[in-house]
Amino acid sequence: MAGIVVVFDFDKTIIDVDSDNWVIDELGFYRFVQSTSPYHALELSHGQDDGRASFSGKNIDDIVGCELRIVSDANMFFIETILKHLGLRDYFSEINTNPGFVDEEGRLRIFPYHDFTQSSHGCSRCPPNMCKGLIIERIQASIAKEGNKKIIYLGDGVGDYCPSLRLTEADYLMPRKNFPVWDLICRNPMLIKAEIHEWTDGEELERVLLQIIGAISSMEDKSAAQLFSSTDCKLQTISIGAHDAFPKALSVPQ
Ligand SMILES: [Mg+2]
Ligand SMILES: [Zn+2]
Repeated sequence: MAGIVVVFDFDKTIIDVDSDNWVIDELGFYRFVQSTSPYHALELSHGQDDGRASFSGKNIDDIVGCELRIVSDANMFFIETILKHLGLRDYFSEINTNPGFVDEEGRLRIFPYHDFTQSSHGCSRCPPNMCKGLIIERIQASIAKEGNKKIIYLGDGVGDYCPSLRLTEADYLMPRKNFPVWDLICRNPMLIKAEIHEWTDGEELERVLLQIIGAISSMEDKSAAQLFSSTDCKLQTISIGAHDAFPKALSVPQ
C-alpha cells in the first residue's frame, strides 16, 4: 500500500461536524473532548472499545497501510486534540492546517496557515488564509520523488474544490454527496481529471475508501490492469456508475 496517499479534509469529513463552530457556539472545551457521538470516520479504530460498527482488523490495516495526511482549514489545536483523544494521531504523517494553541490565559489562539499580511497565495478561488490546491501541489511534488503514487482526496467543502481540480487522471476524488464541493463538481464534472466516488456518511466513506484501496492494490498486482487502464474509465464511471466496479461513483444530474 506504499503507493497510496490518502488526503483528508477534517471538518465534516473525518468528523461529522464543523469543529470551530461547534466548539465556540455549542460546547465548552471539556465537553468537546469528552463527547464521542459526532465522530464518524474516526470510529475505524475505536469501534472495538465502544461497540459501534467499525472496520475489521484487516480493513484497518488496509487503510493505515496507506500514507494518511490531513489538509484542513480548521486549526491544529482542535485537530490534534481530537486525534489524540481517539488515539489516532500517529496514523497521520502530516497535518496541514491553521496553527492554533491555547495561551497562558486559556484562550485559543488561531493563526492563518498562509500569512496573508505578508503576501497573497495568489489563488482567487480560495480564502486568503489557505489555498488547499497549493498544498496538494506541494504534496504532489514531494511524492513525485518517491515514485508512482496515487492520491485519494476526501472532502466536503468549497475549499476542497481547488485541490480537486489539481488531482490527476491517476488519482481518486471522494466528495461528500450533497455538500458544497459535490455541487461544484456536478456543475462540470469534466473539469475533474481524477476518478470520482461520492459518499454520504462515515460508513459509506469507509466502504468506498476500502474499495478504492482494494482496486489500486489489484492494479498494482496487475491482475486488474485491463479493467482500469482505459482512459475512458472516468467517463464510464460517471455515466454508468452503478454497473461499474465502483458502485458509488458520482452520477451527473440531467
Ligand atoms: Mg470540511
Ligand atoms: Zn486555491
